[in-house]
Amino acid sequence: MPRTVVQKAYKFALDPTPRQARQFASHCGGVRYAYNWGLNRISDALDAYQAEKAAGVAKPAVKVPGHFDLCKMWTAFKDDPESGVPWVGDNFVGSYQAALRDAAGAWKKFFDSRAGRRAGRAAGRPRFKSRRRSRWAFQVHGETVRIASGAAIRPAIHGITRKLTKAARAKLTGEALRDARARAAAAKFGPARSDAGTLYLNLPRIGLVKIPGLVRVGTLTDRNARTARKLHRLLDRAETATCPGCSGTGAVTTTTEDGGTRDTKCASCRTAGTMRSARIVRATISRGASGTWWCSVTAEVIADLPDGPSRRQRVNGTVGLDLGTRYLAVDSDGTIHANPQHLDQALADLRVAQQTLSRTQPDSRRREKARRRVGTIHEQVALMRKSSIDRITTLLARTFNEIVVEGWDAQRLAERGNTGDAPARIKRRRNRQLADAAPGMFRWQLEYKTSWTGSKLAKADRHQETGRTCSVCGTVKDKPVPLHHDEFVCPATTCGTRIDRRVNTARVLRAAGGGRSGHGTRPPGPEPTKPRGEDVRPETVRRGRQSSLKRAARTRPPPD
Ligand SMILES: [Zn+2]
Ligand SMILES: [Zn+2]
Repeated sequence: MPRTVVQKAYKFALDPTPRQARQFASHCGGVRYAYNWGLNRISDALDAYQAEKAAGVAKPAVKVPGHFDLCKMWTAFKDDPESGVPWVGDNFVGSYQAALRDAAGAWKKFFDSRAGRRAGRAAGRPRFKSRRRSRWAFQVHGETVRIASGAAIRPAIHGITRKLTKAARAKLTGEALRDARARAAAAKFGPARSDAGTLYLNLPRIGLVKIPGLVRVGTLTDRNARTARKLHRLLDRAETATCPGCSGTGAVTTTTEDGGTRDTKCASCRTAGTMRSARIVRATISRGASGTWWCSVTAEVIADLPDGPSRRQRVNGTVGLDLGTRYLAVDSDGTIHANPQHLDQALADLRVAQQTLSRTQPDSRRREKARRRVGTIHEQVALMRKSSIDRITTLLARTFNEIVVEGWDAQRLAERGNTGDAPARIKRRRNRQLADAAPGMFRWQLEYKTSWTGSKLAKADRHQETGRTCSVCGTVKDKPVPLHHDEFVCPATTCGTRIDRRVNTARVLRAAGGGRSGHGTRPPGPEPTKPRGEDVRPETVRRGRQSSLKRAARTRPPPD
């Protein structure tokens, strides 16, 4: 059982008072401003760099600011009364710094992607955040971010709420005084006894925010405090432990590019050699489409991960999974994981809500209410979708030794269309169903869950013709099985296998995975230097937005 440091996310809803909700909104607006400001500073610097270069300077003196430079510039900017940002001081300082780090990071990702140093689809030129379109969110970190139970903070609340005049207090002594204080506290916060089990999130500048036991989004009710309680328990019993990353030495040996070794500072404990067995890294507060405030806590936890498959996993061996829209997944044994089609179920409600919204006057109260109704339906669908996929992927990761899935990129498939010349209406529906089935989320969940359960995930090559290959004899058909056909018929006369096409695909995948090992994680060695996949350029422009390629073309080249 190797001890390792894992980062885990705990997400739960918050129940802010109206005042706290206003503070949340203020933070969101503030960090959005800082983020946009940061993007602009960097793009100004890039412009200046380019201008000097155009003027014939061989080595321009302009330095493109990084995160720390941005923080310094921001401090100077916000303190200057000319800047016109007197509201800055209302919010937590660290939230601005996090926004500036994100701004610097967005540019870095863009340049890394263009230089081929970043895996995955091409990253676009950073976009400004908008009040209307962007998610409202801000980050907090530091010692102040804590979770406390009502029982633990009760005495403090008690002290604050005592609202007795001096004269009244003089008349009361001992028992009677204690009684009066308890009554005053109860009047303001409800009975102390029932409050003892409630959890609160403590935030800098904002204070204690209640974590409700249940969260309601539309008609969906979920046990909310459970996640928070799990984290609270973990933090409560956290002790200082020897760092598993460096075994207490404070340094880790890494392989350099020329094949040699080099000691670098341990990232887990920051060279201290010891660390807390559970620690909050940061909390992100965000507003959902329904108006619900959520908190996602990233915590560093020392965990004992299994170093190999369990008996159950060994017995069940390798499984192939065909991901799709008719069923979320069909495995090589023929087990079907149904697709609950949450979005399809909500379409009728959505249509009514959307229609109501389009009939309201701009900037009216009714529009706001109708907008929230549409948002509530969407948020509910998203929550249910995640929960269904969570349930299946957890089961799979615990049951099998190895899971093999297809490697195609779901988003690209939707962009390009796997639907041939079908009418737009049909294409739209298929793409909507593909997005609702969320195969990308399914694979991503499998990826991190297998790394926690001693299982491993293998992805087939994205160009492998898994859907056309016969799982019995390996003959490849010329044409894919039409989408509305449920059966795969082997073209080889000697074979003639007839089998459900999804099971067939799953079996081909299982055979592809089988003997290979170590696919759950990237093999050790330097990071890949080229983006995954052959052609990074999207072939079609995304609707409603400029393609990343087009945005990239407008951008100046990175400084060398
Ligand atoms: Zn360490
Ligand atoms: Zn065959």
